Amino acid sequence: MLWTPSGWQPDAGDGWRVPGIANLHSHAFQRAMAGLAERQTHPEDSFWTWRETMYRFAARFDPDTLHAVAAQLYLEMLEAGYTTVCEFHYLHHAPDGRPYADPAAMSRALIAAARDTGIRLTLLPVLYMSGGFDGRPLGERQRRFGHGVGAFVALLDTLRGEECDMLRIGCALHSLRAVPADAMHDVLATLPASSPIHIHIAEQLGEVQDCIALRGARPVEWLLANAAVDRHWTLVHATHLTGAEVQGIADSAATVAICPTTEANLGDGLFPLRSHLDAGGRWGVGSDSQISVSPIEELRWLEYGQRLATHHRNIAVRADSHSVGETLLRGVLDSAMTATGNDAVGSDRVTLDADAAQFAGLTANDAIDRWIFSGNRNLVRDVEVAGERVVSDGRHRDREAVAARYRTAMQRLLA
Ligand SMILES: [Zn+2]
Repeated sequence: MLWTPSGWQPDAGDGWRVPGIANLHSHAFQRAMAGLAERQTHPEDSFWTWRETMYRFAARFDPDTLHAVAAQLYLEMLEAGYTTVCEFHYLHHAPDGRPYADPAAMSRALIAAARDTGIRLTLLPVLYMSGGFDGRPLGERQRRFGHGVGAFVALLDTLRGEECDMLRIGCALHSLRAVPADAMHDVLATLPASSPIHIHIAEQLGEVQDCIALRGARPVEWLLANAAVDRHWTLVHATHLTGAEVQGIADSAATVAICPTTEANLGDGLFPLRSHLDAGGRWGVGSDSQISVSPIEELRWLEYGQRLATHHRNIAVRADSHSVGETLLRGVLDSAMTATGNDAVGSDRVTLDADAAQFAGLTANDAIDRWIFSGNRNLVRDVEVAGERVVSDGRHRDREAVAARYRTAMQRLLA
């Protein structure tokens, strides 16, 4: 079936067809540490203690291991129904902070992984300059993330030469705490008008407090007042917001990237989805730390978080649709083109397994709710990206070869 303004309709084929989903936020290397940060290291473990574990892990990667881990991840995304990934990439240099002989070596590893597996990639090289709002230099473990403005703009220029329908080059600002205001303005001034721009914005209460203390405003409030935020912007983890900030984001037409499984795993907090929908805001989802690689689980927990917090059911609905599943799926489809910067993403197709027991007696009215809210079996049967079949009968065409290379990389990373 295909999306139409009046709802979902069966097509003439032998399955149930839905558009491919864009994953708006990914750090590929973190796939290798999924499940390895679930032991208490401190009685008050939080995002900040998790980050120390993540930094230790990040220090072990080189272009070969990044290529292998990203390929495994992108294969898993395709098998789950993601057909485009926005890669928020800050692992730029060698562990001691020196650029590789090819300063784009790590970016090229991600591009190669996407090309190998057949997923569309929006690569978002990350500008990461300081270790806090006070402008302190990057810590030892953050050195491989860092650039000056000139080197960063040169990296973007180099990579843009490789753009095609399968690859878009955007720009990411790590966060307001990592990018001084002057540098932000300098980089934004160099970007093409249609470039997607992504930023981690308000994930942690601590960064909200620091932003108020040092810039005199909350992060979203400051960004809206100091940058021309528009539909090309994606605000990742817009978790901690006031009502005025919710309305400001909606009025700007920026997309919010919500990563419910990661935000739950890290204990970040809950995005105010109902208020955002009421304000007319745009949003999508991302797998972020890769503790889950499933758009279904992200959408499900986006809704479930609201239910747990409000003691009500069926929160994510709109005036023109009382189906939670349709509202959720329509949201991710509506934001996909501008958030990825790729007009071609709407042409990708995922075919669901019409023979699955979850779909017995299916009607167009309940198809999407059943897909999202019924059971845990992956119902994705076939996936086509840019007209090419990359997943058939639930299996990626290169599953064995990619997994073998991933196992070798994991042995090196965990040695
Ligand atoms: Zn992130």
